Amino acid sequence: MVAESKTTASKTFLGHIYTPVEKGSNLDLPEGFLSVDENGKISAVGKRKDFLPGADEQVVDLGKSLLLPGFVDMHIHLPQVAQTGRSGEHLLAWLEKYIFPAEMKFEDVDFAEKLSYWFFDELLRNGTTTACVFTTIHKTSCDRAFSVAEKVGNRVIMGKVLMDENCPDSLKESHQQSIEESLALFEKWHDRDNGRLKYAFTPRFAVTSSRELLKGVGEAWAASAGSYLHTHLAESRGEVDLVRELFPEARSYVDVYKMNGLFGTNTVFAHSIHLDDNDLAELKRHDCSLAHCPSSNFFLKSGIFAFERIKESGIRFGLGSDVAAGPEMSMFQVMKDANYIQPSHWLTPADLFYRATLGGARALGLSQQIGSLEAGKDADFIIVDPTNRNAIANDMLEKETEDILSSLVFLGDDRCVEATYIRGREVFSKKNFSKAY
Ligand SMILES: [Zn+2]
Repeated sequence: MVAESKTTASKTFLGHIYTPVEKGSNLDLPEGFLSVDENGKISAVGKRKDFLPGADEQVVDLGKSLLLPGFVDMHIHLPQVAQTGRSGEHLLAWLEKYIFPAEMKFEDVDFAEKLSYWFFDELLRNGTTTACVFTTIHKTSCDRAFSVAEKVGNRVIMGKVLMDENCPDSLKESHQQSIEESLALFEKWHDRDNGRLKYAFTPRFAVTSSRELLKGVGEAWAASAGSYLHTHLAESRGEVDLVRELFPEARSYVDVYKMNGLFGTNTVFAHSIHLDDNDLAELKRHDCSLAHCPSSNFFLKSGIFAFERIKESGIRFGLGSDVAAGPEMSMFQVMKDANYIQPSHWLTPADLFYRATLGGARALGLSQQIGSLEAGKDADFIIVDPTNRNAIANDMLEKETEDILSSLVFLGDDRCVEATYIRGREVFSKKNFSKAY
């Protein structure tokens, strides 16, 4: 469980501030300050020598610890939080063997609540301040998960899963019921707490969707202003072959979504590995966003995301942990895997960090509010001490930022996160933390 939250009223943090920025490549202030106003927004960022404390200003000196933007996890499954580390199968067999049975348990709303507390606490403990979340088909459990997120303080884009074909009977719904329930959840939760909670229409993927379901979701999403469309796309070869069989009228997997109206701004397509040039051109033309989930792709041996090609194409994308296909929630792990999985390209630590923060925020259309530490944005940030890992020497903090960042990306993990703040409110503190489940 998280500690009782403390709201920050005009509070300033002194420490080493590093952040990507909207214009230019990054801001690096080894001796910096960041001020948060009473509304949880960043009021100023700068060099410590330029900081003038107000009369009632609370000042927190972080020593040499780093103050970084919170992570954005673009793709993760709440009900799978207890299923991490179960490998040995490709996607479709893995779903049957481990995932569908775990999702059936969400029929029990009290169980769903317990797991939700664990899940949302874990996100914050790992320094993830924003997450795009799959739940299950169960409306009441998704509703409960929103209640828990509202209470714990996470920023989430979440939705109930829609499935009406090619899945176990107990996880199969009628497409009408599935869409009606999604609309009811959208009405109740979308934009709650000034937009901290948002709704995503969440068809699992083309394989478990009838044409009626896809069309209906496309219409519901289009009619629900500001909502997201979150699904999987072209993750594994076996899945792509099956989609070709199930939807012979479509030119490609991308085309299945496009012809059913599941395409455009405010989409999140997880994985997006097995795509051709035509698919990429369509994704770009329609301003779709992708969630690259390298740890998951490693784990299920699904394939390799065309990082450089997609970056050059200008398609917006960020990173996702895809727990439980990704074995760890930590975005440090995801960043390093994004580099490791590329057979010949080196991705720089700064680029990886960008993708896990501002890049993800841009992909979600939220970069006006989050993703970097700049005046006017919400104060979503983490306090990190890399030397909490024995593998990182204590004098690392004296080195150039590039070296610190490289150590963090390749050796960092949850142990390095000291505290997590969302809108200036402390939502995780290592010293007060106890495990919820
Ligand atoms: Zn997934």
